[in-house]
Amino acid sequence: MVEEAGASLLEGRSVFRVELGEGGADHLVHVGQRAENGESSVVLGARWLIDASGRRRLLQQKLGLTEDSGHRHSAAWFRVERRLDVAELVPESEHRWHARDVDGRRWLSTNHLCGKGYWVWLIPLSTGYHSIGIVAGEEHHPSAQFARPESALAWLKIHEPVVYEYIRDTDLTDFMCLRRYAYTSKQAFSADLTGSTFQNTTLSRADLRTAQGAYLDPRTNKVKGAKIGAESAALLAASFGMKVASYDAAPTRARRAR
Ligand SMILES: Cc1cc2nc3c(=O)[nH]c(=O)nc-3n(C[C@H](O)[C@H](O)[C@H](O)COP(=O)(O)OP(=O)(O)OC[C@H]3O[C@@H](n4cnc5c(N)ncnc54)[C@H](O)[C@@H]3O)c2cc1C
Repeated sequence: MVEEAGASLLEGRSVFRVELGEGGADHLVHVGQRAENGESSVVLGARWLIDASGRRRLLQQKLGLTEDSGHRHSAAWFRVERRLDVAELVPESEHRWHARDVDGRRWLSTNHLCGKGYWVWLIPLSTGYHSIGIVAGEEHHPSAQFARPESALAWLKIHEPVVYEYIRDTDLTDFMCLRRYAYTSKQAFSADLTGSTFQNTTLSRADLRTAQGAYLDPRTNKVKGAKIGAESAALLAASFGMKVASYDAAPTRARRAR
């Protein structure tokens, strides 16, 4: 898709290093492949550099912009190969609760089970699996308590015993744990480019160190973050487009600036 839009796509490569061009010089991006017999790399020159390396935050870290988010939260998640119907988690005697699910399809939603210092997500996946995740504050629930499949099950047994009973005999697939996942950044806007990004993207011109990523809580992703993320990406693209257009429209001035 991106190639159809005119981009060159290099798959299976990693960005090993970036050098930000000073005084308008191109940025240099060292892109390569690691193999058993060593590594090979090429250096790409670029006027603009957009960092979309996610949590790796290549530019944010290179520029020393990472800031403590103050959130001491961790998460662990996995999938189970079965549907997890929330209606079955609640006794039928809870009439009011069941009555609100007018068409019996509550399980199709992302559901959050909240307790003191934690929440647990239940997300139905199109593959037939259900995704289950624990998100907790370290001060209430140290991540060591749920950092492995067996400890996560033990944790659920204590805090969400009904869910535990539901999945206790099911394999936990693709178990992951991310300790202290939150981060933020010293800089989100630039006087040179009006634009921001929601999470992990960073855009840079040597004299245009602009948008920086922050990641606070996966709940914001589910509730409104996807929308904010999409809008933010659109805003970044629009800002970037305007900057490029102004460069094209005034090549002499812009080239002088380089
Ligand atoms: C616990 C948790 C739960 C979440 N739940 C949800 C959810 O339910 N719904 C939702 O919408 N979002 C959720 N999110 C958020 C979602 O994961 C992120 O918003 C999304 O992945 C960000 O996309 P991205 O493209 O910026 O980064 P990523 O998806 O992290 O992509 C970055 C890519 O860059 C690559 N990369 C890194 N370094 C290099 C390098 N040096 N060279 C080349 N490539 C590199 C990585 O391999 C990766 O493929 C959750 C996040 C967390 C932490």
